[in-house]
Amino acid sequence: MDTYKILLSESEMPQEWYNIIPDLPRPLPPYLHPATGEPVGPQDLAPIFPMELILQEVSQERWIPIPDEVLRIYQLWRPSPLHRARRLEAALKTPARIYYKNEAVSPAGSHKPNTAVAQAYYNKAAGIKRLATETGAGQWGCALALACNFFGLECTVYMVKVSYYQKPYRRSLMHIWGADVYPSPTDRTAAGRKILAQTPDTSGSLGMAISEAVEDAATHPDTNYALGSVLNHVMLHQTIVGLETKKQLDLAGEQPDVLIGCVGGGSNFAGFCFPFVPEKLKGRDLRIIAVEPTACPTLTRGAYAYDFGDTVGLTPMIMMHTLGHSFVPPGIHAGGLRYHGDAPLLCLLVHEGVIEARAYPQNPVFDAARLFAQTEGIVPAPETAHAIKAAVDEAARCKETGEAKVIVLNFSGHGHFDLAAYDAYLEKKLEDYEFPEELLKKALEDLPQIPKK
Ligand SMILES: *Cc1c(COP(=O)(O)O)cnc(C)c1O
Repeated sequence: MDTYKILLSESEMPQEWYNIIPDLPRPLPPYLHPATGEPVGPQDLAPIFPMELILQEVSQERWIPIPDEVLRIYQLWRPSPLHRARRLEAALKTPARIYYKNEAVSPAGSHKPNTAVAQAYYNKAAGIKRLATETGAGQWGCALALACNFFGLECTVYMVKVSYYQKPYRRSLMHIWGADVYPSPTDRTAAGRKILAQTPDTSGSLGMAISEAVEDAATHPDTNYALGSVLNHVMLHQTIVGLETKKQLDLAGEQPDVLIGCVGGGSNFAGFCFPFVPEKLKGRDLRIIAVEPTACPTLTRGAYAYDFGDTVGLTPMIMMHTLGHSFVPPGIHAGGLRYHGDAPLLCLLVHEGVIEARAYPQNPVFDAARLFAQTEGIVPAPETAHAIKAAVDEAARCKETGEAKVIVLNFSGHGHFDLAAYDAYLEKKLEDYEFPEELLKKALEDLPQIPKK
């Protein structure tokens, strides 16, 4: 009998996260203080993060135990299945074997609860009462609302204004799990009021919503901030995805030739592929491909430079690929993956040539999503569809060369709340958009000056 799903039992779930920091080909440049340009220390981050997460951010330990309370919640949906995409392979008439790791089975429908649960746990343990965060398309807000609900924490979500109105059902989910949700920029914070005074009609951006959530946390002692991507501790928590995938590929008797994931801030991609990076650094022939939209081409066209994590410049400066912190994604772009920067760990590995990056416009991405839905059945999130598009292209290349490569992609989430984007696609209303060179140049002129010592 052909196998379609490779399943692990609950007792086979990994009990430790993998920290890539000690295995990097060169050290990660430190975060710099936004005002002084000095490396940020633990005490600088203490007003908005619990100490356990700050220590994980800079830890040199390769393996970090997952707390029991976190494992018990992971068990609600983990281990997640690894599927063999036999029907997609048949439709493509490819000799390649395509696998996908299905993170859509979490209650929030994406990989994001893997870190949300861990972050809520450490904040609760530190005596925090409320978490503040931003959300773009709403998946992160949903994941954190879910996690706060499990640990009895209050949750305040600043949701990018355009998504707040375009994706009302994600808002409903957050409300069911007990979160308060506001369209950002709001008049609840100084950062929001400043942005509204300058650009009253703005549709919002992740950078703006981060400014608001960070300010909320920094000005309330019982409140901390939670970030759904980009930071090292977020990548760490997501490695449960890649660690499970490794075990499942071993069970299937397979070695991956190509690993593929989509990148917004980098967390699902990093969590999926980082556990495989040490083998690649030791010389194993493995391609690792990060996929992003041409509308927000951070890895493929951004500068590798220090920039702020937010619009207003409240966060530390991070060495990363960036489109400039003033970047506002075009409103016509239907998918997520809209952040101006990316995870510094991922950027370092792209800069070092360990990981490849590529970008696709949205119509070919939705073509691949529809093919996937019609063959494998699951409707992918538009973000996930970027990874599917790359896998389809790699499988087509195998058809030309006759190579039976093993292609594994991370299926980061389902698209059940993104049906408006699918409608726009089916009605041929999606524009293929390349971020214009002049706008990119202009945004990069605003990169912060690092004070000279
Ligand atoms: C949030 C999200 C992404 C992008 O975020 P990363 O941090 O890059 O993983 C991708 N896919 C889905 C389904 C998401 O919810």
